[in-house]
Amino acid sequence: MVKKIGVVGAGQMGTGIAQSLAMSGYDLILNDINKTALDNSLSFITIQMEKGVNKGKWGEDLKNKTLAHININDNIGCLGECDIIIEAATERKEIKFNLFKKLDEVAKDDCILASNTSSISITEIAANTSRPDKVIGMHFMNPVPIMKLVEGIRGLETSDLTFEEIRGVTQKMNKVLIESKDMPGFVVNRILMPMINEAIYALYEGLASVEDIDQAMRLGTNQPMGPLTLADFIGLDTCLSIMEVLYNGFGDSKYRPCPLLRQYVSAGRLGKKTKRGFYEY
Ligand code: NAD
Repeated sequence: MVKKIGVVGAGQMGTGIAQSLAMSGYDLILNDINKTALDNSLSFITIQMEKGVNKGKWGEDLKNKTLAHININDNIGCLGECDIIIEAATERKEIKFNLFKKLDEVAKDDCILASNTSSISITEIAANTSRPDKVIGMHFMNPVPIMKLVEGIRGLETSDLTFEEIRGVTQKMNKVLIESKDMPGFVVNRILMPMINEAIYALYEGLASVEDIDQAMRLGTNQPMGPLTLADFIGLDTCLSIMEVLYNGFGDSKYRPCPLLRQYVSAGRLGKKTKRGFYEY
């Protein structure tokens, strides 16, 4: 039975994961090496919960209960009681590998260690621990409290028991788990990013205008927003780095990032966050 969960990394994703877990009734410890990140994360969740009350989405009671479930702590040693630890720290191999070595030392023997990584192999992460059967990918979508999907990623040695424990947590969070093998991009990015990259190629080759490419995909395939708008929202730097993961990971030219995407990133046109990408904001 999963009672207590640890979340490591209090950035954008860790904050969303912590809020969603606490709203589902889990007691959790949110850990980060940066104390300011922890304080900011807790204030962000508090504001989000207050907004929900003001909009009539939930009552004062859920807000209070949710906040009471969250403890923040900047010492990794505090995670010893957790049944599952979900890591959502910075996307760098050396950071994750060192973290999993430490987590393997501090976590109790039957604790599951999950990673929210977007691009690093779960099998490689698991190799830094003495419990590869209890290491799994749990890839949440951004923003976590709104998005229903979680990709569950099996490393080479992830056990069925580990997978089912994660499925239970996901269901309690009112989210849906799909199962993916440990390959670059998992399922969503493997399919979504080449589509976005192809839309950028279409623009690069002068096939149609920015507006018409987006309009075509919205009205012709019933997507809620066109691929170029979506790329601006995700961030063109993020799109490029995911395409590079696919290109390097598979060594297949079909994943070659479009030169126009590279150019926009070099020019600092990263999308909505820099107020300019394919559109101006
Ligand atoms: P972020 O930069 O917002 O936050 C990362 C946090 O990790 C920071 O607060 C940092 O202080 C902390 N951190 C770094 N090293 C640490 C350590 N050793 N111990 C504890 N905390 C540490 O990053 P993010 O966007 O929240 O991404 C986190 C993870 O989620 C990454 O693996 C990323 O690939 C993945 N992810 C991101 C998105 C997204 O849209 N942003 C979506 C799905 C998955």
